[in-house]
Amino acid sequence: MTGNPYVDVTFWFLLVFIVAVLWQHFDVWNWIERTFLGVEQEVPRIQAVDSPIVIKKGTIATCPNCGVEIAEVLNDLRLFDLLKASDFRGISQEIKQFDATQCKKCGAWYFHHGKLHTKDGWVP
Ligand SMILES: [Zn+2]
Repeated sequence: MTGNPYVDVTFWFLLVFIVAVLWQHFDVWNWIERTFLGVEQEVPRIQAVDSPIVIKKGTIATCPNCGVEIAEVLNDLRLFDLLKASDFRGISQEIKQFDATQCKKCGAWYFHHGKLHTKDGWVP
């Protein structure tokens, strides 16, 4: 270039540096892949995964104290589901929205701390 080795080294260093920065900035590899190699872009996707069923349809809720059958579960209940009165069919007592989840016979709670008392014990 100039014959001065210091100027030449600085020139090439700067040139390589600038090319590297531009290469990175414009994502040249990515562009080459898309344009010449036909590589498909990986599209990030959200995958919907149903939360697991924790109480199955047909489960019978019973009183943990006196053992009376209180209600039948009408729908599969999943983790984090909000329970509705319509998810239950009352057996020994009517199930109403916002009613205390207590046995009408003895007053014991049959749904407590996110767990339902059934013939097989507390679930889930
Ligand atoms: Zn009871």
